[in-house]
Amino acid sequence: MAMGAGASADTSAGARTGGPVRPSVAARTTLVPLAAARITGGFWAARRRTNALTSIASGPTKLEEAGNLANLRRAAAAGGGGADDGDGGFSGDFQFQDSDVYKWLEAACWQLGDPENAPEGLAGQVDEIIELIRRAQAPDGYLQTYYQLGSTPRWTELGWGHELYCAGHLIQAAVAHHRVTGRDTLLDVARRLAAHIDATFGVGLDKQVDGVCGHPEIETALVELYRETGEPRHLALAAYFIDRRGAGTLSAGADRGHDRDPGPGYWQDHLPVRETTAVTGHAVRQLYLLAGVADVAAETGDAALHEATLRLWREMADTKTYVTGGVGSRYDWEAFGDPYELPSDRAYTETCAAIAGIQFSWRLALATGDARYSDLVERTLYNGFLSGVGLHGDQWLYVNPLHVREAYSFREGDQTARRTPWFRCACCPPNAMRLLASLPHYVASGSADGIQLHQYATGVYEHGDTELAVETDYPWDGRVTVTVRRAPEVEREIALRIPAWCGEFSVKGEQAKAENGWLRLRRVWQEGEAVRLELKVEPRLTRPHPKVDAVRGCVAIEHGPLVYCLESADQAEGIDLDELALDVHAPLETRRDDELLGGVVVVRTTAEGLMGDSDGGDAVEVTAIPYAVWANREPGAMRVWLPVKSVSKA
Ligand SMILES: [Zn+2]
Repeated sequence: MAMGAGASADTSAGARTGGPVRPSVAARTTLVPLAAARITGGFWAARRRTNALTSIASGPTKLEEAGNLANLRRAAAAGGGGADDGDGGFSGDFQFQDSDVYKWLEAACWQLGDPENAPEGLAGQVDEIIELIRRAQAPDGYLQTYYQLGSTPRWTELGWGHELYCAGHLIQAAVAHHRVTGRDTLLDVARRLAAHIDATFGVGLDKQVDGVCGHPEIETALVELYRETGEPRHLALAAYFIDRRGAGTLSAGADRGHDRDPGPGYWQDHLPVRETTAVTGHAVRQLYLLAGVADVAAETGDAALHEATLRLWREMADTKTYVTGGVGSRYDWEAFGDPYELPSDRAYTETCAAIAGIQFSWRLALATGDARYSDLVERTLYNGFLSGVGLHGDQWLYVNPLHVREAYSFREGDQTARRTPWFRCACCPPNAMRLLASLPHYVASGSADGIQLHQYATGVYEHGDTELAVETDYPWDGRVTVTVRRAPEVEREIALRIPAWCGEFSVKGEQAKAENGWLRLRRVWQEGEAVRLELKVEPRLTRPHPKVDAVRGCVAIEHGPLVYCLESADQAEGIDLDELALDVHAPLETRRDDELLGGVVVVRTTAEGLMGDSDGGDAVEVTAIPYAVWANREPGAMRVWLPVKSVSKA
């Protein structure tokens, strides 16, 4: 791997932009994220605007209604100490209620970096909540209202307590706040908390507790805190937590409130990370951990950890990832299933797991420069992630199945296939908010050589002496115009990712050949010069891996990076989605419908009814919509994988 070039890890004045990942100048990454990236138009600008003006704007109200802010207020009133009256009036069902506040705060801070689209009054709300958190922090630096307000001693429920998990989210919010505003108010809280954690768990003489958190998250956060402050002890503690996993310190017996034992693999405590060969257990825990492992490997150059991330990613992508990019197929323990255990109707695929997958893949894209990681980022972003976010920004899906039957038995709760304004366990909504608010960070990267465009989004992307403007109607259309706004009088490379789904592409006036997913154009660029890339976007049928028994004999409709589905609302009356069989020889026709679901391209084709009937049924026209926008109308059936009409052998 090459040394990182152009990273700005200095904490001095100046660099006040950037996103969630900023490797230090010494990090061993092939690519570095851009310090300045903006999405200014097109598909993602619209979704990000809704995220800012509806989702983020309503966050404080939601956090008020759910009691999260009240918890902080009570802890603040007690001077960061605790109430001695049992539960101390803690609101909410989970120890990790504080993390919802921190994730919203992180989203709000990234949004402050895009002030044109920030809702009115956001900066004031951020200040107010930071002040509340500051006052809630205990004098010794500890911070988690559940334990501050309750009677359970701190650090005694490492399995389910989420204390380090919440600390991690606080730290990430603080890093975002510092990166965007340059102010120390929240970073000071984070540093006091990190110092307290270091004194409690660290490798020094003072160590009081030996263990790791049941829910990883602190690892990646500590590395980012190291990157932001330059304090090596944060990196050392992250590396320590990673290497302490697999030692069996998390025992279910020590955890109150859970009478079932998930087993050590659930929280990735079954084996040391260096020895693991498969992603396992709770999907979000696994992927947050691996994001942290990738961060530590990048900063320390630890080759064994780096190899582990590549190995586990490969195993996940090849055998445990849905066509939507969603991961974590099991409802039971929100976990990864066995290889090829990818049922459509029982797909759990938590929105948070999709987000965690994007975070992990992006770190590997930076570490290696390999396009396949950004291919999976794209697939997940446009499908398994975006399906979790309601079109109007006020409704969410926690689970993202690929098939909902006509006779779906709806039960009120978080884990249903019905959109919900907020959840009892509200991990997903603020997590989606922070990803959308920081999305420009995931579009492009830089190297000493030039700029790489990993995703196609209208906007402006700067790296050092080079600045590009991108214009596109992607994902509906494959034409992308990249205009050089600024370039030095020496050779620079503009690298364009050719998505794995794309079988045919061209660049106007060039003999374009892609290698390993990258089309590299190298020359001395003139200001105003434009590259016109055309990715051929046409509907296609995708067959599943033959080992996925659950969807054998089915196909999925895709169009560009989008996976499509049939939803009842778009079909003629009387069509039963459970009875349909697709005619794979029928043409797939596309039509732009600006009135439908915020403006989409629909795909129409022919199916026949009654797949079990040897006579077949009447041919019917069916209309497919992007999976990303399903469940935004009246509830009904939906399916991604469609049985294929069997050919009569007579
Ligand atoms: Zn979630």
